[in-house]
Amino acid sequence: MTAPKAHSWIAGMAPYVPGKAKVEGVAHPVKLSSNECAFGPSPAALEAFAQSAEQILRYPEADSAALRSAIAGVHGLDEERIICGAGSDDILTLLIHSYAGPGDEVIYSQYGFMVYPVQTTAVGATGIAVPNKNWAADVDGILAAVTSSTKLVFIDNPNNPTGAYLPWPEIERLHAGLPESVVLVLDAAYAECVTAADYSAGAELVERADNVMMTRTFSKMYALAGLRVGWAYGPPAIIDILNRVRMPFNVCLPGQPAAIAAVEDTGHLAQSVAFNREWRAAMTAALDAMGLDAVDSQTNFILVGFPKDSAHDASAANKFLAKNGYIVRALPSLPHHLRISVGKAEQNQAVLTLLAEFMNGSPQ
Ligand SMILES: *Cc1c(COP(=O)(O)O)cnc(C)c1O
Repeated sequence: MTAPKAHSWIAGMAPYVPGKAKVEGVAHPVKLSSNECAFGPSPAALEAFAQSAEQILRYPEADSAALRSAIAGVHGLDEERIICGAGSDDILTLLIHSYAGPGDEVIYSQYGFMVYPVQTTAVGATGIAVPNKNWAADVDGILAAVTSSTKLVFIDNPNNPTGAYLPWPEIERLHAGLPESVVLVLDAAYAECVTAADYSAGAELVERADNVMMTRTFSKMYALAGLRVGWAYGPPAIIDILNRVRMPFNVCLPGQPAAIAAVEDTGHLAQSVAFNREWRAAMTAALDAMGLDAVDSQTNFILVGFPKDSAHDASAANKFLAKNGYIVRALPSLPHHLRISVGKAEQNQAVLTLLAEFMNGSPQ
């Protein structure tokens, strides 16, 4: 008898390690490790979610038509070019599975969102990780990495885990330099957080080009991560392909009305964005004042560089914060940094106080 055998390229994969949620010896740790939105969801979304409870014996609407229509209405888009997914991870994954396979290449930034390399490996394609420039994607580096085997280019704009972004002219330049056969995916998971005037999430380029996808999510500034709802805007031909391969009921029943209420509550989103902008600026300034290296962020998290001496390095800081009940994100690819999500006001204040104590002394 021979045991069942997975594809050779899958057998060697390491499982995804999500942001920690528990610390030993701490009853209720504060989780600032997954870029969830501490400001919380729209009350209207919570109400819509609660109201859907009595319908959950039913399958959800298969094509998320009402949700697509609500998104199109709020953003001024064409609902026929929208696809919804179980989080935007679902759609990023569908793109890789539909357009890449063994022998193909997929380009992304060295420091970037984990889903791209994981799913590239899962389909047996070759991932090309291009070093970042000023913490964002390097347009020239990416263009130089394109070969006749390139099928997809992923830009998380703004970038996770660095928080940096590419101004719109740089995205235009990247698109102009790519062959028309390559799909350019603009992953705008943090679009709502961006306050830079020269940023665009990319909908207008999607409408003008045949090879550009923009992905969005309800998990970050809409604060619905647990419901797993995301969406994408793309050319009809690509949307058609994704609709063929997606699971028929990919967006859960409670998720659809909750996301509709969330996207239509533009007042709540504006409050959340204002809260985030204020704390992002305050935390960045406070971290810099401690002598730490806070990377300028357009997101709802801050990547913080620590000294390399063993008493004050990122790993010691991470342990100190955890022991005091605060979970932040340690990144294997950036051992001298920690990624800290913006939390509630008192949580942000507490993290800053703890880090000041850590930097000032021989912390306990
Ligand atoms: C969080 C995140 C996503 C998406 O998450 P979903 O919950 O699957 O919508 C996508 N891209 C980046 C860069 C992210 O940080």
